[in-house]
This record gives sequence, structure tokens and C-alpha cells, in this order.
Amino acid sequence: MVPNVDYHMHTPLCGHAKGDPQEYAARAIEMGLNEIGFSDHAPLLSHRDPTITMDMSQLELYHTMIESVRDELKDKLTVRIGIEADFLPGYEDRTRALLARYPYDYVIGSVHFISDWGFDDPIQLKQWDKKDVNKVYRDYYKLVRKSAASRLFDIIGHADLVKKFDFHPTEDMTGEIEENARAFKKSGVVVEINTSGLRRPIREAYPSPLALKIYQRHGVPLTFGSDAHTPKDVGRDLDKARELAITAGYKEYAVFKGRRIAEMRPL
Ligand code: ZN
Ligand code: FE
Ligand code: FE
Ligand code: ZN
Repeated sequence: MVPNVDYHMHTPLCGHAKGDPQEYAARAIEMGLNEIGFSDHAPLLSHRDPTITMDMSQLELYHTMIESVRDELKDKLTVRIGIEADFLPGYEDRTRALLARYPYDYVIGSVHFISDWGFDDPIQLKQWDKKDVNKVYRDYYKLVRKSAASRLFDIIGHADLVKKFDFHPTEDMTGEIEENARAFKKSGVVVEINTSGLRRPIREAYPSPLALKIYQRHGVPLTFGSDAHTPKDVGRDLDKARELAITAGYKEYAVFKGRRIAEMRPL
């Protein structure tokens, strides 16, 4: 059995995903999902890079594209319009303005940068060698905390993405995760189980089983995403994600509409 929602998928507009939204939607139907949401990378406000995010001028097209899939499939599949936006400290006001330009069903807030280092970018992988891994983890968790506190986002994307390349901290990070759980609860954000980690060197969904338990204990709601950058990954490993959620003590998950939790569905 799979949870019937996948809220994290991309489009070719970000410059590193393949396949038309129609193909993502077709795959979702094939996988037995009844609700999906697109969440392509919002234009990066710190610098322009057409290989990692959409450009400001493409936002309009993004919306028209998803709306047409939504309208076309409305009897078969619920299609939500989300977006994945970077949390960049110092850019909060500009991010708020960017997100206000169009209506969304939800906004996923993601930390992909520590200062200007794209720590999850394979092209910048070498920089890990020069870093203090414990400090990287602590800096990362602190940014995620700040992203929740910013109230810019509805869903916290891949809440322990820092583990992607399988660099392990030697210090215990449980305190950081606890602190994040409190911040999530306080700002009312939802966490996603993002199955893309299973396809990365870490071979584990984001967030870890331990982190999920901590979020559950703090009453942080949950939702699901595959982070598909290709149609074949839509709905991928959501069966495993559901098991992880149940093991962590979750009983239900959130679905969104108009930037609010529309419903809590039983797992
Ligand atoms: Zn991406
Ligand atoms: Fe991301
Ligand atoms: Fe993504
Ligand atoms: Zn992502």
C-alpha cells in the first residue's frame, strides 16, 4: 500500500529534470496515486544558474503548464501547484515577494546552500574534503531551523539533506534535530518524507528514522514526496516511506490546498 500523494516533483524548467508534466502525471496514475503536486525549483535570488532553478521569466510558463495538466486530468488525478524555494538568509523579504506573485497550494522550503556552498551539488562535492563535517551538520540544521522560523514555507523539504553524500558527523546531532522539531512545531510547518535519499549515496530517505520519531513526538505533521526529476521516479518508494511513517508512530499525513492543510488522511 502506498500513501496516495506525491508532492515533490520537478519539470524541465529547472534545467536538470527530464520529461513533460503530462508524463509525470501519467506515471502517477500508473502508480495508483490520486493526488500529486509539482514543486519545481523557484528562481534563485542569490545568483542566476539556469542548471539549478527556473528563471524569473519562466514562472508564468510554469503555472500555465501545470494548470493545463491539472485541468486536463481533473477527473483522474488531483494536481496541486507547489514550488520548492531555497532558504537564503538575508533574502527573506525577496523570497516572500517572489512567492506572492502567484498562488500556490504549498511551498516547500529547502536548504541547499551553506553560505554560498551548494553542499548537495555533485559538482561541488570536492569541497566536503576541506570541511569540518560536524560543523557542516550544525550549520545545516541551524539554517533549516531558521527556514521554519521565517514562516515563508509550508513544508520543510528533505530535512536532513546534509547526509546525502554519506559524510557522517562524529558528534551526536540528536540535540540539533530536537531543536528543529520544536521550531517546526512552533511555526506550524509540515515535514516531508522525501524518498530521493534512497537513490543517493546515503541510501536512506530524508529524514532519518530517528528524526522522524522525534518530529512525531513533537507533533509535527507529515507529507510525502519522491523528488522526481524524471517521470519514472514519481511515487517511487512511497511504500517504504509509509512504513517509515508508521514505524515512527505517525497515523496520518497532510494534504494541502491554497497554502493550508486541507485534510489529514489516515496512513
Ligand atoms: Zn532539483
Ligand atoms: Fe531540494
Ligand atoms: Fe526537489
Ligand atoms: Zn528537492
